[in-house]
Order: sequence, then C-alpha cells, then structure tokens
Amino acid sequence: MTDKPKTWGIIGGGIMGMTLALRLSQKGHKVTIFESGDKPGGLTRSWKMDGVVWDRFYHVILMSDLNTRRLIEEIGLEKEFKWVETKTGFYYGGSLYSMSNLIEFFKFPPINLVDKFRLGLTIFIASRITNWRRLEKIYVADWLQSLSGERVFEKIWLPLLKAKLGDNYKKTSAAFIWSTIQRMYAARKSGLKKEMFGYVRGGYDIINKMLVQNLIDRGVVFKLNSNINSVQPTDNGLLSIKTDGGDKYSYDYVISTLSPLQSVKLADSLTQEEKEKNKNVKYLGVICPSVILSKAISPYYVTNIIDDWTPFTGVIEMTALIDRKEELNGKNLVYLPKYIDPDDSLFESSDSELREIFLGSLFKMYPEISEDDVQFFGVSKARIVFALPTIDYSKNLPGIKTSMKNFYIINSAQIINGTLNVNETIQVAETRLGEILGTFE
Ligand SMILES: Cc1cc2nc3c(=O)[nH]c(=O)nc-3n(C[C@H](O)[C@H](O)[C@H](O)COP(=O)(O)OP(=O)(O)OC[C@H]3O[C@@H](n4cnc5c(N)ncnc54)[C@H](O)[C@@H]3O)c2cc1C
Repeated sequence: MTDKPKTWGIIGGGIMGMTLALRLSQKGHKVTIFESGDKPGGLTRSWKMDGVVWDRFYHVILMSDLNTRRLIEEIGLEKEFKWVETKTGFYYGGSLYSMSNLIEFFKFPPINLVDKFRLGLTIFIASRITNWRRLEKIYVADWLQSLSGERVFEKIWLPLLKAKLGDNYKKTSAAFIWSTIQRMYAARKSGLKKEMFGYVRGGYDIINKMLVQNLIDRGVVFKLNSNINSVQPTDNGLLSIKTDGGDKYSYDYVISTLSPLQSVKLADSLTQEEKEKNKNVKYLGVICPSVILSKAISPYYVTNIIDDWTPFTGVIEMTALIDRKEELNGKNLVYLPKYIDPDDSLFESSDSELREIFLGSLFKMYPEISEDDVQFFGVSKARIVFALPTIDYSKNLPGIKTSMKNFYIINSAQIINGTLNVNETIQVAETRLGEILGTFE
C-alpha cells in the first residue's frame, strides 16, 4: 500500500470518532463522520438546563490526563483550563463524612483501625502493581476480600463496586479496581494527599464546538442525523455505508466507533466467529438525572454512598468543582448517576417516574433541601457506556481488524488496562489508528 490520501467514513461522532478524524485529516486523508444525533460529542454532549448549558453526563479532567490536555491545547483552549482541589465525601449510616485526607480517613466510623490499615494497604498494593494482566484472571470480589478482609469488603468495597457495576461486580475482574485506583492515585499529587481535578471553562460544550470547527477547517465533513445501518463491500473494492434514510456513501476505509455488538450488527458479511466474539463484550449503561438546585448540598465533588437504599449510586456535585457564578449563573448542579444493564427496565421509566424516585431519596439524604429548591430536573440516559472488564478480558477481546477488507472496529472496549474516560478514548484512537496507518508503509 502507498501513503497517498484515502477516503474514510467514520461511524459515530463522539470523542473517538472525532479524534480519529483529526489524526487522519492531519495526514491529508478525506474524512466523513456519520453521527446519528443532531450534534457531535456523544457521551460528552451538553444540554440546556434552566437557561444554563453544561454536560449531560458529568466530566472531570485529571492533571494526569495528558492526551485530553494535549487535544484541548491543540484546539486552542489551553488558557481555559481551571484546576481545583476537590473533596470526596462518603454517606454512611445516614450521615455525610469527608474523606479527603488521612485524618478524616482515620476518623471514618464504619471500620476499625485494623480494617483501615488493611484498606490503605490494599490501595497501596494496587497502586504499585504493574502486571495488570495477572489481575484479569481473578474476580475483583475475591481479590479485595483476600487483601482487605471480609468486613472492609462488605462495608466499603462492595457498596463501591455495586455503585459502578450493579450485580455485574460478580463477573468483573480485579483489573477493574486496579485501573480505578491507578487513575485516582495519578490524580493526587502523591499518596492520600489532595486531589487536583480540572475542567475547561464552558465544559465539553466548548471543547466539542472547537473540535468540530477545527475538523471542519481541515475539510472533515459531518453528516448529522445519519444513523448508519449497514456496511458492505462494493464490486469495485470500496466499502458502502447506508443510512436509515436510504442514503449510500462509498469509502476506501470505514471505521466503526460503535460498541462491538452495534458494530457487527452493521456488517452482515462478517464471519460468525467474529460476530460472536464481539457480541460477548458486555456493556453497562447509565441513567443520570441532572438537578439544578438553588443551594449547594455539600462541599464534595463525589459523594460515595455506603448505605444501600438510594436509587442513585453516588452524588456528583458539579458545582463543588466548577465555578457556579462563572459557569452556571450562580446555580448548583448535581448529578445522580445509576449504572445499570442496557436492558434494565428502569430505562423504560418516564422522567416523571424517575423524578419521584431520585428526588425522593435526595431529599431524604439531604433533609435541608426540598422541592422548593429544585429549579430543574432532567434525565440523561445511555444504554451503551462502558465495557465490563470480565475475566481474561484482554485475551478475549476482538481485534480492530475484521474479515471485511478495510472495515475496522475501534471503540472504547479497546481500553484494556484503564477505566472509561476521554483520556483513554483518545489513547485508543491514536494508537489503534497508528497500527492501521502503519500497514500503509
Ligand atoms: C456518566 C458518565 C460520566 C463520565 N465521566 C467522565 C469523566 O469524568 N472524565 C472523562 O474523561 N470521561 C468521562 N466519561 C467517559 C467519556 O464520556 C467517554 O470516554 C467518551 O465520551 C467516549 O466516547 P466515544 O466516542 O467512544 O463514545 P460515544 O460518546 O458513545 O460516541 C458514540 C457516538 O456514536 C453515535 N452513534 C451510535 N449509533 C450510531 C449509528 N448507528 N450511526 C451513527 N452514529 C451512531 C452516538 O450518537 C455517539 O455520538 C463519562 C461518561 C459517562 C456516561
């Protein structure tokens, strides 16, 4: 193959699709992005809530997110970063506890001093492990129980695992908690000291706008409201992709950034074996109400919930991170995420049903707020969010190359030793694309 410019169709206009398009267009290739939504951004999209615009799903940038920071600098937003020391809270036995430094950690009531030592040791051990593949062979529950003991597992780890994975924690490998701890450790300057979290003024709304503009300036074409339903080889050696509206387009190369299951559903002519392999990658979804309140509810960006009666599995108080005056007209923004299976019946609930369930618990948890303080309640849902890191995940993961010549699948399931975040997504886009382009030379 020669390195002369080719035509590329990219399915999905999230961060993955746009990063691929950016790198391809920088090499002179002609790229078209197909996005089913009415604007690009995917999970990082923003929306309007009571007159203010912010992300549909909460996003924070860590100091260690070097890929994200580089991309943001490239699109001219380097001066818009803000870094903030944030605090973490825990809700246990009907009370809120700060867990932002060592002293607070030692005062935390659910576990005794010996247990605290085991918990600290577990985190320390996880932060030192480099051979994560070994952890892919062990269930996370077994690994944590063996290191931290039964009590710490029941009182601390289990609620945290259930918060992110629901009952799927039973199928998850220890690599999951390892990568979570690695990311959190990297966010702190050192050990259990202060957390430095960041954001870009204007949020992902401005990041997406600048990225899209940068891509358009480089000649990338966006086809919005274009849900792709098939990819097929043509007689003249190209790949044809078709939208729900029946429009057809042909390219030298096509990359699907959709989940493995969604991607193989597009491509009928793939082998049964690769269809099965892709279908075996299970994803989790999220229901994430955003609430605008007239007052703040806590000083914590994240409040982890140990008690098990709330429908949401954590409270994210965005305005403990972002400047409420500058960004949200003085309003307070709180997210109430619940991570669930893509086929969970909660996805069928109406917003008013979810409002009753979620706000009812929020008022119980924070008795100082009531319906009078609620200025906006809206629900964001995504059935496909992150791939479950099951046993031997990286070994069983399908490759990006498919049996359909020049059709590639590059998605967030390819994050094999990290948690789902924008930084890892960019990393996958860049390294995997590098592998494809490498075959050109
Ligand atoms: C609740 C939540 C909190 C998060 N918090 C953070 C955080 O704090 N920090 C961080 O860095 N990251 C965070 N993330 C992760 C981050 O949002 C993702 O890593 C990133 O957005 C993934 O991008 P993607 O392009 O792979 O997927 P997506 O954003 O899902 O993009 C896929 C795109 O494909 C489109 N599409 C689907 N089907 C079709 C079709 N048939 N045809 C055409 N287009 C189609 C979709 O509309 C979508 O735009 C969070 C995510 C969630 C959900």
